[in-house]
Order: sequence, then structure tokens, then C-alpha cells
Amino acid sequence: MTYKYSILLPESWTKDNFYTYTSEQSIENGSFVVVPVKTKKATGIVMGTDSENNFDGLREITEILSYKLNEQVINWIIVSSKYTLIPMNQILKMILVSNKNTKPGYLEIQSEVNDLKPGKYPIEMLKMHWNKVRAMMKEGVITETEFPSSDIPMEQDFFSPDQTKAINSIQAITSGTVLLKGSTGSGKTNVYFEILHKIWQQGKQILILVPEISLTYQLIERFHERFKVYPYRWHNSCKQPVWNWAVSGKPGVVIGVRSALWIPFSNLGLIIVDEEHSTTYKQENGPRYNAKDIAILRAKSENIPIILVSATPSLETVKNIRDKNYKCVELERTIPNKLNIKLVKTNKWMSDDLKKHIQETLERKEQVMLFLNRKGFSTHIHCTTCNNRLLCKSCTAGLIFYKNNYTHCSYCSQKQLMPKVCPECQSEDSWKFYGMGIEKIQDQLCEIFPDHKISLLSSDTTEIIDETMHKMQNNEIDILIGTQILAQGCHFPNLTLVGIVQGDIGAHSGDIRNTERMYQLISQVKGRCGRADKPGTVIIQSADDKHPLLQAIAQENTKEWLDQELSIRQNHNLPPFSRMIRIIIGSKSAALTEKIVMNIKKPTILGVEIMGPAPTQLHKYNNDYRWSFLIQYSKNIFPQAKIKQWIDGFRLPKNVRLTIDVDPQSFF
Ligand SMILES: [Zn+2]
Ligand SMILES: [Zn+2]
Repeated sequence: MTYKYSILLPESWTKDNFYTYTSEQSIENGSFVVVPVKTKKATGIVMGTDSENNFDGLREITEILSYKLNEQVINWIIVSSKYTLIPMNQILKMILVSNKNTKPGYLEIQSEVNDLKPGKYPIEMLKMHWNKVRAMMKEGVITETEFPSSDIPMEQDFFSPDQTKAINSIQAITSGTVLLKGSTGSGKTNVYFEILHKIWQQGKQILILVPEISLTYQLIERFHERFKVYPYRWHNSCKQPVWNWAVSGKPGVVIGVRSALWIPFSNLGLIIVDEEHSTTYKQENGPRYNAKDIAILRAKSENIPIILVSATPSLETVKNIRDKNYKCVELERTIPNKLNIKLVKTNKWMSDDLKKHIQETLERKEQVMLFLNRKGFSTHIHCTTCNNRLLCKSCTAGLIFYKNNYTHCSYCSQKQLMPKVCPECQSEDSWKFYGMGIEKIQDQLCEIFPDHKISLLSSDTTEIIDETMHKMQNNEIDILIGTQILAQGCHFPNLTLVGIVQGDIGAHSGDIRNTERMYQLISQVKGRCGRADKPGTVIIQSADDKHPLLQAIAQENTKEWLDQELSIRQNHNLPPFSRMIRIIIGSKSAALTEKIVMNIKKPTILGVEIMGPAPTQLHKYNNDYRWSFLIQYSKNIFPQAKIKQWIDGFRLPKNVRLTIDVDPQSFF
């Protein structure tokens, strides 16, 4: 008998979601199959039967692979696609990994290899070429093994009464979303380790999402300290073995950044989203989605718990707790010393107060951290002849100047040599530089404190993050200056002074979440110091010392500020009190984009307001001239299907780019 199956493929050539193929065998839904596509082969998933299809030229499934997705995962793919408006084939593309080789995931080494002592390790930790690993496996030096189990109990008195209470209350929750809230140093990680341990021992799989790749390294070390076993890491070099393990349903733990969300676990027992407020969970290139929200959908479809972890939860989460959609478990800070927080009014980059504190801290042989969310040397390059700002060639954005004589665009990330001649007026040597970046601060500090080691950390220097963190831990750095990367969790026992160079940065720009992000960043950065037995000082500099947020942070009383911020959002019906979808249309021709958007007719949908079209704030981005629609709707409706219908009717030419951003986080 010939069966006909609907197959979801990672590409789509028409508006259809599925393509029909035949097979002589009966195949279960969710099975991975290989099918011919034109002259090539593609891997797809069986979504159901299609016996009604009487088309003559149906082709046959060439191979049925040994793994399949369960019903919950299939259901989650469908729901995620409906919510984010990302076509299902693009979701499948994110789920699939290359299956060219079948490396083992976990290995046991019998003698020392690459500084690793004999023991069991995930393959990526060997940091060796696969051919070499294979050769050593043939020699018997390395053998394949399973993800080890770990049943080392924690000593009873390891946890404070507060932490024990938190563990008990979260363990009582068998499904739904719970926020584990606690300031830096309150022991959140130890608490969720305890919870995942129990679920791991029940033979389940656990996913830990973290915002930054640099954080995975530290978390993996902590995990090993606790369990004497290394977790898997979702990493470019070893996706395939982790993927195979996930589909197999065998117990274990994987840590990864947002793309780890798409691993098709068949036996998931718990999801943890660390630093849930982080903006890096939002994918801003390609298909746009928020990994945290899709993870919550995932937990729902599996009927398992999901733990959001944060010291400074997003307002979306705060509102969900107030509305009783999420539960909340809170930890107190267990550090013995209270922080000494000072708000200093100044127009200089370094007030006398800050300078004095830096001096005293260095004299005590303790460490200083300075935070300024401005990369490079100067943030503003200006031509004194024609009065124009030097702009990026691909964007309508001003360029940043770097000390190595390069310019950098913070939108499209292009780096270019600083031009000698002004492109507008052809004048030579007419540049003037304004605005302070961290490189300039480093230069000036080196003059003031010539005998001290002063280092930089920003997303420009990700390749030295681990090295810098180690040096900081070993006291080889006296002053560390950095951008928001400093906010990510790290423990330096000798760090006792944190200076926020410009506390009011960004306070007046147009983004609705700007103050919220300031609150999260400053709170996180200030939490870096005074975490051990030495008291810590935080100095927040600002031209406006009456700023309600800075006042609230200085008094360590942010609840009132949160209430205020929430009521502002409510009064303007902004998220989290409403939802938004942003539609961006762009092309290389400004005239073409404008003509197209002007011809789009807006539909009337009950409860939905469609604003625009309007040129985007950054009109030219990556050489595209862009216009956008902003759709706002109330929280209790899901107009996605109707919006999709409207968008499908646009009929855009091939050279016009369409971006759909559900729950947008950026508005440039
Ligand atoms: Zn000029
Ligand atoms: Zn640019």
C-alpha cells in the first residue's frame, strides 16, 4: 500500500507549509525523513497523512531516519509559529543541525589529555580535532560513555533558611512559570542547582538558558564544582552530539544561549532562564523571537516548570506576577556588609569624590570597576568646516571613533579606517572629536594612576573575556573599565569600588524600555562589588541627581520606582499593558520603499490599532531604506492570524525586505 504524507521542510517555495511525499511504509508523525527536492535531498518531519492528494507526480520518501519528535514538540512548533509569525519551515531550520558525522557526546579519558585529568567529559572540552579523537578512541585511550549521573547531596547547613524555603516552594511547583528573584550574592544559582538536581535524578533532561556565551564558561565551572560532572554546552563545534542526546531522551543537562531553545528534547523536565531580563534573549537578526517567551510556550506544551531567574526582573515579568500568571520566590541578600551607595552630582566624567575613592581603594590594594555604556574613544566625530557629523556609509547613524584610528557603526557593526578627508566637504584635518568612550577613560586614568594596571572590557573584546576575568580574579588588574558586559554575573572578592560614570546615560532617548534597562544595568553593575567579606562602595555620577530612578537605586528602594514606571506604562497603554507587532519594510531604494508602503491599505481589526507607515527612526540601516508599521493591541487578544492575512496580501517585489517583529524590544 502507498501512503501519502505531509512533510515539513526547512525551505518553502510556495505559501504552503507542507509538501506531500509517498512511502510504501507506514511512518509515525514526527519522524525525520529524507526526501528529494529538485536535484537535492532535504531532511523534513512527517506532520500527518495527506491521502486526499491525487497529484500524479508525487515523489517518494528516500529514507526514514531513526529519530522522531514527540507530539508536544510538534505542537510547540505550531504554536510558536502562530505566535511569532515565523513560518514553520524557518523554525524547522533552527531546529535542525548538520548531521554529517556522528560524534559521540560524552567521552571518558584514561590518561591526561590536553590538561584534562582522567575522567568523563563532554567532547567539546577536549578541544581536539575530531580525527585525533577518533584515532585515540581506536587506541583505547578515549572511550565513548553516557552523560554521567551525579548524586552528591548538599550538606544540610550549606543553605540558609531562606534558601531552603525557596527550594521547597519551587520544588512544590510541578508546572507553570516561577520567578526566582534575589539580588547578586543571594545564592540563586545554588538554589536552582538543587532543583534541577532532583529533576535530573528523576531521569529527565534540563535546559539552562544564559544570555551571553561568556557566562556559559563560568556557569559550567560552578556546575562542575557542585556536581563533579560537566554539563553539555550548546556550542558551534559540538551541536550534533548534543542534538542526538536530546532526541534520545537520556538524562542530562545542557547550558546554552538563546539558540539552545530550539534543541528538540524528547524528555524535557525543566527549563531555567538565567538573567531573564536580559535583552540578548531577543533575536534581532533573521527570524525575530524572544527565547524566553518561546521557552515559556515550550514548558506549557510539555506541562513542566520553567524558572526565570533575575535580580531585576523585566516589567513584563513583574506584571505577570502581579496578575498571578507567574509565581514568585524571593531570596534575601546573604552578604554581611551593606553596600555604601553614593549619588554624586557632576558634569565631569570623574568627580573629586570618585577620584578620592579610587585613590583610597588602590592604596588598600583593592580593585575598582568603572562602568560606562559607551564603546570606543569618542562617540561623536564632527567636521569643523561643514559642520556635519561623520556618518556610517550604510546607515543614517553617527560613527564612533576608536583609538586604533578606526571608526565603528554601532548599528551595522562595520569597521572602517578613519577618513583623512571629510566626505561631505573634502576638507582635510577638520575633524573634531566629542563624547567619551571607555578607551578615553582608560587613557586619562593611565595618566592619573600610572603605576596601576588598567584594562578594558566590552563586546569588542569578547575574545579576551575569559582571560580578563581570570586576571581580575587573580588581582592582576587594578581598574577594570567596561560597558554593559560588566553587568553579567561574575564574582571578584577583592572588588570594593564600583563607579557608574554616567548614571543618566540614555535617560532621555525615545525607547519605551530605556529607564527599565538603566535600572537593570546599574543594579547589576553595582551588585559586582562587596560580595565577599569586604564592604563595598558604589558611586553613581549624574548631571541630574534628582532622577527618580537613581534616587531609588541609591536608597536601595526600587519598589516605589517600579510602581511608578508601571503606572506610566499603564497610562500610555504601553507594554506590558498592551502588546505590539512591528512590521518593517525596506529596500535599497528610498523611493521604492516609500511607494510600496504608501500603497498598502490598512485593515480594520477589532481591538487592534495599526500606526504608520512612517520612516523608521534609523531610516537607512545596512543600506536599506526602511519604513514601518507599529501594531498595538490589547493583551487578551491574539490578532496574529489576521495580521498574517494582511501581510500575505502585500505582494512585495523580490528586492524588498520584510521583517515581522512580534513583541519588539528595539525600535530603531
Ligand atoms: Zn566637512
Ligand atoms: Zn552602519
